[in-house]
Amino acid sequence: MHPKFNPRKLSVLNFAKTQASLEGVEPLAQFDRLHEFQQPGAEACEVHFQAQGEMRSTSAGASAPWLVLSASTRLTMVCQRCLGPVEEEIAFEREFRFVESEAQAQIEDEDAEEDVLVLSPDFDLLELVEDELLMDLPASPKHAVCPQPVKLRVADADYQEPEDKPNPFAALAGLKIPKG
Ligand SMILES: [Zn+2]
Repeated sequence: MHPKFNPRKLSVLNFAKTQASLEGVEPLAQFDRLHEFQQPGAEACEVHFQAQGEMRSTSAGASAPWLVLSASTRLTMVCQRCLGPVEEEIAFEREFRFVESEAQAQIEDEDAEEDVLVLSPDFDLLELVEDELLMDLPASPKHAVCPQPVKLRVADADYQEPEDKPNPFAALAGLKIPKG
């Protein structure tokens, strides 16, 4: 039996050494930064995540802790075309390698294809899930086909220019100073 791991305080090294896995569902409201993109009044939704720890050998013959992480959620965002609510599925699967220090992580992250993070005895896995989901948010969410283009046009037609708007040229003429 694997020890029980807390995703908010994860001992990455133990998690990898025991090849543990962790799966969970958290309400979106727990992820403050992500939750800001959810339209008010939208149906409450959840973030699903799954993590797998493992030790992989390095080129130097040692072994390093890795994390295979995937997560998904569904956000109700604002369509940039019709300004109506649009549901966006956001999901990722990524691999992370962990090293001892921040300095080492910075050096290795430049060359490595995978993301390199710093080992921690109380790593916040859900914060990493949130970071990665935020990176995958669509910059410009849109419906494939907007559901209500007609309704918007009707709304435009109902709007009428006020009749008594002063003619800008008339206003200008009023400013003319008569030649003396
Ligand atoms: Zn739309």
